[in-house]
Amino acid sequence: MNTRVDVVVVGAGLSGLSAARSLSRGGFHVAVLEARDRVGGRVLSVALEGTTVDLGGQWIGPGQDRAYRLAAEAGVSLCATHTAGQTMYRLDGRRRQGGSIPPLGPIALLDAHRIQRRLDRLTHEATSQPPSAERTLDAMSAESWLRSVAWTRGARAFWKLLLEAGACATAAEVSTLAIAHQLKTMGGTGSLETAEQDFMVGGAGQLAKQLMVEISDCVYLGEPVQHIAHSAEGVSVVTEQRAWQAFAVIVAMPPALAARITYNPILPALRDGLTQRIGQGAVIKCLCMYEHPFWREDGLSGALLDATGPITATLDGTASTDGPGVLVALATGTHARTLGTKRPARRREVVLDALTRAFGPAAAQPMAYLDHDWSADEWARGGYGAIPAPGVLSEFGPMLTAPIGRIFWAGTETASAWRNYMEGALESGERAAHQVASHLDAKAETRP
Ligand SMILES: Cc1cc2nc3c(=O)[nH]c(=O)nc-3n(C[C@H](O)[C@H](O)[C@H](O)COP(=O)(O)OP(=O)(O)OC[C@H]3O[C@@H](n4cnc5c(N)ncnc54)[C@H](O)[C@@H]3O)c2cc1C
Repeated sequence: MNTRVDVVVVGAGLSGLSAARSLSRGGFHVAVLEARDRVGGRVLSVALEGTTVDLGGQWIGPGQDRAYRLAAEAGVSLCATHTAGQTMYRLDGRRRQGGSIPPLGPIALLDAHRIQRRLDRLTHEATSQPPSAERTLDAMSAESWLRSVAWTRGARAFWKLLLEAGACATAAEVSTLAIAHQLKTMGGTGSLETAEQDFMVGGAGQLAKQLMVEISDCVYLGEPVQHIAHSAEGVSVVTEQRAWQAFAVIVAMPPALAARITYNPILPALRDGLTQRIGQGAVIKCLCMYEHPFWREDGLSGALLDATGPITATLDGTASTDGPGVLVALATGTHARTLGTKRPARRREVVLDALTRAFGPAAAQPMAYLDHDWSADEWARGGYGAIPAPGVLSEFGPMLTAPIGRIFWAGTETASAWRNYMEGALESGERAAHQVASHLDAKAETRP
């Protein structure tokens, strides 16, 4: 086996595969080294009773152009997420139903709109404010910010729930600047309403499969990278099996996992400072399959938002009109951490109890059930993405993407479009490939 290539890409998630495809199209010789025995990373499509379902990334929405383009390239059919009917809410300990407008009293509703406008203003200003203003915002957790701006308990509870469900963390854990930055990469708070507009019939795994079409012969599975030695001359990327030599390496994974690889020479203090502080959110995704989507007959959309847990959110993931109904249930943040301590059988019980409380007795008897705790996954250690705590971005933020010699960084956490989404993974891979190509072209180090 030839272990000398132009560029090694570590990680075969969407970011690593997109980086490798871009480089390969640019004429570079690439090797993608993946720890797992499969590609896709946090995208994981599996069969459940003959239907393909997603245990990881699933939905796409307007503005996620790369993901839509790749799905079209793969000839994938899209299913519009079923949203007709009432959404269930449990806010402030009270059960309520509502449409797309949350079931709050008129004053709380007004307040919720005001908070959204404030958040959009922060988002608009994010990355263009003077450093001192960014620091002030970064010093505040989303919890403190909400307390400082909300006039009503209802509006505060509503926004806290939305932000926590999106970050897979408590509002106390995540900085307001990090929320503003992420929303900016999505184009503002309006995108929160449409980010789950569509999903792929046959699973999002088809995106990874499509990226593989041109590069399958240079992807090596079951090859966890342990060590990267780097110098002015090149890099040596060491796995359990062998050492790969290259001009450059792209590490395409969450920053917390990138820090579990050892580096020689050691990375600068600022980069290590970042990875010491930036952890992943916590999420358990549960798929419940029923003979048919029974909740629709009761006038329900299948969507639930519940601040009390153990399930934070549900969505209708039913792909066909005459096939089984799929209810996708997500435990996030503190609820995921608690649920993750339970044995699988007990976890199933707890999840189904929660769904029964929300959707009635029919929810108690699924024909099939599956879940995945992403924090317990050795090669993910959480999801959807990273959650910068107060103070981290303003102090260490630039180190997310700053190359270190011949080491470049990809992964959805580094994206400038749709950070923490599949779209962000694709964008970050393309950006890292571009950085490497420019670096190698400048040094005229490519092979003919
Ligand atoms: C439950 C869940 C639901 C989600 N839902 C959505 C959604 O609906 N829509 C959406 O857009 N996004 C969603 N996301 C987020 C989306 O899945 C991710 O943003 C995206 O898949 C991340 O891709 P990535 O390439 O950046 O990272 P990853 O997919 O994590 O890829 C990193 C790869 O690196 C490998 N690796 C790690 N360490 C090593 C090592 N030492 N050596 C070699 N390989 C290594 C890993 O095995 C992995 O394959 C969801 C995520 C989760 C967990």
